[in-house]
Amino acid sequence: MRLLLVEDHVPLADELMSALSRQGYAVDWLADGRDAQYQGLSEPYDLIVLDLGLPGLPGLEVLAYWRSQGMSTPVLILTARGSWSERIEGLKAGADDYLTKPFHPEELQLRIQALLRRARGLANQPKLEAAGLHLDENRQSVSRDGTEIQLTSAEFRLLRYFMLHPQQILSKSHLSEHLYDGENERDSNVIEVHVNHLRRKLGRSVIETRRGQGYLYGGAGA
Ligand code: CA
Repeated sequence: MRLLLVEDHVPLADELMSALSRQGYAVDWLADGRDAQYQGLSEPYDLIVLDLGLPGLPGLEVLAYWRSQGMSTPVLILTARGSWSERIEGLKAGADDYLTKPFHPEELQLRIQALLRRARGLANQPKLEAAGLHLDENRQSVSRDGTEIQLTSAEFRLLRYFMLHPQQILSKSHLSEHLYDGENERDSNVIEVHVNHLRRKLGRSVIETRRGQGYLYGGAGA
């Protein structure tokens, strides 16, 4: 899953960038409201974490603009402590959730997981479940019938994306846009390699190939 982090306080942004990368998210970071207003609409983010006090353009205006353009990406806002009016204005402007600074990085992690599942119409259960597999996002492992199967970080990222989009045809270019940040060289052959590794670990039928279209997780054969 690919995230945009908009935060002008560099030490906090650094801390969140490394925490989110450890959790298997591809993250782009911006510090300026105007840049965010543009990039939030031009890149296919799965979720946006938006600070409200920003140089360039206030976060509230950025959010209101995104929503006026029909952008439906989940947005979690970061608000100042004690500022109930910011929280209310943020929710009115179309925020899906908020966190008040200071917060524990784990709280952000859990809220992001919940928002991403909610956006896919999946309940926020302790483990993500699709096609007989249970994914533990905190341990970054998968299990079937109680047997745990170890995954590399790249396999975990890919499998999480598939499990959040079951029964959906996903092209290699779509997958690489959602699994790598804007700084990364995107090579869709890498996706093929990781798909093959996942099939070896989880069984061939879990991920089907649709010729000329892409991959499908949890199809009839799974
Ligand atoms: Ca700020």
